[in-house]
Amino acid sequence: MPDYDVIVIGAGLGGLSTGALLAKQGRRVLVLEQSGLVGGCCSTFEKDGFRCDVGASIVEIIQPIEQVFQKLGTTFQEEVDLISCDPIMTFIYPDGKRITYPLSVEETGKIIAEISPEDGRRWKDFVTFCDDMMQVTLDTFFVEPASTMMDMVQMVRKNPRFLKFLPVFLSSYQDILEKYFKNETVLKTMGNQALYFGLPPALCPGPYAMVPYSEHVGIYYPRGGMIRIPEALQRCGERFGMELRLKTRVDKVLVRNRRAVGVRLADGTEISANIVVSNINAKTLYLKLIGSEYLPSMVIKGIKSYDLSASVPMIYLGLDASPELDAHHSAFAASPEDVNRYWYDHLQTGRLTKENFGLICWPSHTDSTLAPQGKHVLNLIPEGFYHLSGTDWDTEKPFYVERTIENLSRTVIPGLKDHVVMAECATPLDFERQLLLPEGAIYSLQQDLPAQAVFRPAARSRSIQGLYLAGSSTHPGGGVPTTIASGLITSKIIEKYEK
Ligand SMILES: Cc1cc2nc3c(=O)[nH]c(=O)nc-3n(C[C@H](O)[C@H](O)[C@H](O)COP(=O)(O)OP(=O)(O)OC[C@H]3O[C@@H](n4cnc5c(N)ncnc54)[C@H](O)[C@@H]3O)c2cc1C
Repeated sequence: MPDYDVIVIGAGLGGLSTGALLAKQGRRVLVLEQSGLVGGCCSTFEKDGFRCDVGASIVEIIQPIEQVFQKLGTTFQEEVDLISCDPIMTFIYPDGKRITYPLSVEETGKIIAEISPEDGRRWKDFVTFCDDMMQVTLDTFFVEPASTMMDMVQMVRKNPRFLKFLPVFLSSYQDILEKYFKNETVLKTMGNQALYFGLPPALCPGPYAMVPYSEHVGIYYPRGGMIRIPEALQRCGERFGMELRLKTRVDKVLVRNRRAVGVRLADGTEISANIVVSNINAKTLYLKLIGSEYLPSMVIKGIKSYDLSASVPMIYLGLDASPELDAHHSAFAASPEDVNRYWYDHLQTGRLTKENFGLICWPSHTDSTLAPQGKHVLNLIPEGFYHLSGTDWDTEKPFYVERTIENLSRTVIPGLKDHVVMAECATPLDFERQLLLPEGAIYSLQQDLPAQAVFRPAARSRSIQGLYLAGSSTHPGGGVPTTIASGLITSKIIEKYEK
């Protein structure tokens, strides 16, 4: 008899949600995590009394997460103390002007109407369109398997209204926004959010254009830090007997007769299991942990053809004063065209710039427990790609942090540099080393149309029996709610195929 029914490689959100749901099915589950913390990109570390989030800084579109916790016999709200963020975002313009959107859809509409009455009217149409699309896709696309064309047909059978939104997948984020909004100032409050999916607005699939609306449905921060979400999944899994080992790296998936039969750890220990679930990058899984000797050449070619997703550097600051900001998130105002230009001129070429760009996150504004009394945490997500032109991240890192702080002190947060008492930075190279994300790819694989749904690596491997995928490498892709939803999908598929 194998040591376990299921081994999960990686304790990211996808791994933990699959592991917990499979334990609930009565299976003996072991989760193996190479780092010392759960949560991967959605985690929190402590430095000098400040609690900083590794990557993800908020959670929205929480319906799929609620489904997972309900299946685990509890609720998201019972397991995690969610603080609603209101206002949701301040947009900072190059001339210093700031526009802050509150949570309320109606109040946001009034702010937009003051800028442009025509766009204010269109905001209502945009809200109706996005709300409809959100309800339909949350009932189908985001929680159902999408490995085959038959799966897509099943989605339409489950909710025929899904058909109405299929053409939206063929348009871009930018197409959708520009269909509704014409005013440049208004558009500059909606361009940046395409980067939440690691793509510029011209390449980001149309359905994600619902984000400038979905944030108004609810945007939350877990009290204590983003790690509270994976910790809750871990706790629920452990109630059903799931085991977790930290600091345990898997080096190989053991394959016999084209079936996954267990794993080999970095120290050489072998652990056997009927099923192996991978929560790691699909390229690493297939090309390194399995190896080409076990894969048909077409599969090797296919997996090599995927582009890795974008990466970002994160700067984590501890401050001895409150920064002059207004919301949990502040973004540098950027229209879809601004973001496209920035993507092609800087991010793709690896040329860093002094221009202000990206997101400033102020979590201690929402949750004062993250910093000692009177102090604050600020996370900067400025810009940047894995490959830099003429330099590398290890060389650039100290100057990059200094330059970013200097720049913000001169522009949007006067005096910032005089209040920094702790500074840390994770570059794309650090993400690669610490979380084993190849090239620091934060969404594993690119999320453009050719890597969506049936085109993304399948949750049930077609070449290795007993091997399953969860997390950002498989449908429905990267993000907190989507990777947790992948656990729902993968556990459903395992229930069907592995009695
Ligand atoms: C900077 C940044 C900001 C983000 N902001 C947001 C946000 O605000 N909102 C949002 O919704 N999403 C955000 N995201 C995206 C979101 O955090 C991720 O898509 C999601 O957390 C990924 O989950 P995952 O299940 O794919 O696993 P991952 O987080 O990729 O975790 C995989 C785990 O596997 C482990 N592992 C890897 N290799 C091995 C091995 N060989 N053996 C054992 N363990 C291994 C890793 O250590 C890691 O813990 C952000 C991501 C980043 C990096």
